[in-house]
Amino acid sequence: MANTFRGGAHPDAQKNATSHKPIEELKAAGIVVLPVSMHTGATCDPIVKLGDIVDLGQKIADSSAFISAPVHATVSGKIIAIEPRLHPNGLKTTTIVIQNDYEDRLHPSIKPRDYEHLTGDELIGIIREAGIVGHGGAAFPTHVKIKSGIGKVNSLIINAAECEPYITSDHRILLEHADEVVGGITILMKIFGLNEATIGIETNKQDAIPVLKEAIGGRQDIKIFPLKPKYPQGAEKQLISVITGREVPSGALPADVGAAVFNVDTCGAVYRAVSQGIPMMRRVVTVSGSAIANPKNLDVRIGTPLEKLIEATGGFKEEPNKVLMGGPMMGVAQFSLEVPVIKGTNAILAFSDEEGKHIRSTSCIRCGKCVNACPMNLVPTYLYLYSENEKLEECERYGVLDCIECGACNYECPARLYLVQSFRMAKQRILEARRK
Ligand code: SF4
Ligand code: SF4
Repeated sequence: MANTFRGGAHPDAQKNATSHKPIEELKAAGIVVLPVSMHTGATCDPIVKLGDIVDLGQKIADSSAFISAPVHATVSGKIIAIEPRLHPNGLKTTTIVIQNDYEDRLHPSIKPRDYEHLTGDELIGIIREAGIVGHGGAAFPTHVKIKSGIGKVNSLIINAAECEPYITSDHRILLEHADEVVGGITILMKIFGLNEATIGIETNKQDAIPVLKEAIGGRQDIKIFPLKPKYPQGAEKQLISVITGREVPSGALPADVGAAVFNVDTCGAVYRAVSQGIPMMRRVVTVSGSAIANPKNLDVRIGTPLEKLIEATGGFKEEPNKVLMGGPMMGVAQFSLEVPVIKGTNAILAFSDEEGKHIRSTSCIRCGKCVNACPMNLVPTYLYLYSENEKLEECERYGVLDCIECGACNYECPARLYLVQSFRMAKQRILEARRK
């Protein structure tokens, strides 16, 4: 039986444009653009200089901070700039620019390993050095999540929900690379010392279930847990609640209730890093939306400018009104196609006038739809009132810091209020005040 959580929304899935299309490898760009911050945590410092010749997979930026993840060259070639450039988050960030020599000369550190004989600490070290971050969007460094959960986690959950509309990259990875996903799950089980893992998958990916079962083989230690399609089914706290029945309290982390959640492609990245020595250099990106001529799932080198992805999908069939990095619920609007694919990029969506048009907000009509939709049991209508009036103490008292910014309230609001945008600002102001 498929399971679900309280609240949430049912946006039109819109996945048919790409769900049946095999992943296509995008040719490497002539120039790759690698910001030194593509993860949650401390920014890295460049460890290469202008004019250096680098190999494919060579580490080019790193940090000594615990919460950080190194950056690697995604082509071989020459460093032609280290300078502030526009990041997909809208800010200028130190960026390392490499001119591709098209030799794809592998760095000597990249070699296969017999990982079965490595210890948990050695495996975590490899994952750290490979610069792996969560592929689901938040880009939290994977080695940090693992280290913070050792000794606490007794429930390993693999997130195959992919609940955001339009995005099909994880679905295709399950269909085409299930062996790597299962390999990564096996490594994570070894690190945590667990003899069971559960894959949560929405039932709208029925064709992936037999493929996964085949990759799992006769093993009984990896279970498949069907989930009812609903947004945000793939949010960590909701997934943990549905699969284990445990509620992550306000302000707590999944590890505090003994759970750790990893995205399917993060598992694939762990497998590739550990068994083949390959750092995080590429990822699968869904390119879709009404303004895209020929929507696709592309296997892309990190650092590829967005314009190359748009070109590979036949260009815009009409001028887009909005381009998003990520899904329509949580994606970030992009104002330049020169910004690159970063580690957390799972989709580029472009919408034409009709779909992406600005809709005027009216006043709250107190319908309560946002309250029913909120998976975190918040009262968005009050939060909005306090946030708009800069009453930050009240915002905090009503739990704005627990808002996971899923946008389900926005989606349901008939007054078209910019609720989540308001909550994001309130959270930033509260955290800024705390830091001061
Ligand atoms: S208040 Fe936050 S958590 Fe609740 S529905 Fe809105 S965006 Fe999602
Ligand atoms: S859904 Fe919108 S209009 Fe309805 S109560 Fe919430 S904020 Fe007000």
